[in-house]
Amino acid sequence: MDLTVLGCSGSGPGPNSPSSGYLVRIGDHAVALDLGNGTLGPLHRHLSPFQLDALLLSHLHPDHCSDVASLVVYRRYHPRPPYPVTEHRLPVYGPGQTAVRLAAQSAASVAEREADDLSDVLDFHVFTDGANTEIAGATVSVRQTVHPCESYAMRLEHGGRTLVYSGDTGACDALVELAAGADVLLCESTWPHVGPNGEIPPAGVHLSGREAGEHAAAAGVGHLLLTHIAVWNDPAAVLAEAKAAFDGPVDLVSPGETYQV
Ligand SMILES: [Zn+2]
Ligand SMILES: [Zn+2]
Repeated sequence: MDLTVLGCSGSGPGPNSPSSGYLVRIGDHAVALDLGNGTLGPLHRHLSPFQLDALLLSHLHPDHCSDVASLVVYRRYHPRPPYPVTEHRLPVYGPGQTAVRLAAQSAASVAEREADDLSDVLDFHVFTDGANTEIAGATVSVRQTVHPCESYAMRLEHGGRTLVYSGDTGACDALVELAAGADVLLCESTWPHVGPNGEIPPAGVHLSGREAGEHAAAAGVGHLLLTHIAVWNDPAAVLAEAKAAFDGPVDLVSPGETYQV
């Protein structure tokens, strides 16, 4: 497997990166993990969106799913699709309300919000805590995390290698359990543990750099990749905290970069 960063700016796009979105190649297959603001554009640099085998959404905050609306337009209105799109709908996995929430996003009006259900081009599946599914040649396990909305971390296993993506989460045992022994943990680290003016971030929303390092250490992962640093925070401070808490290799991800799993 390998992991390509389409965007990694936390909580919204920044000057140097779209919001959260990742392309994972699994042998001959390809899946996207989240598709936040601005991530569909860079996806085209790597493959046709028609070549995606599945889309996995950690949760429904806009910085993780807003470009699904653009993907729907692409699949529905492209005049020369390489296959009959309505016969080969894209599997989309996500929280319980994914189908209706994304339909509302694409609706022509409030009154019409349930009329455009997107099922002509997307095939919706619902994540539940602890579920284990075969997707695009990988074994995918999910755990619900701690966040202001229903949100999932994902574990992808293929060919003896394991990638875990935290999605958005506050500190939680579920992430440590899901990430146990993973080769790569792609982990959100939105903010420093204490801000430059002494501000303490709220609990139960996101991880600090220190907490990302602590979760990686507790899970015994091989490589910690830090992502989703909020655009107003200092990545260097978050990286230093994570390195102090985790003895293994730690890197900040960059848009456009590919990482071997
Ligand atoms: Zn987010
Ligand atoms: Zn979120």
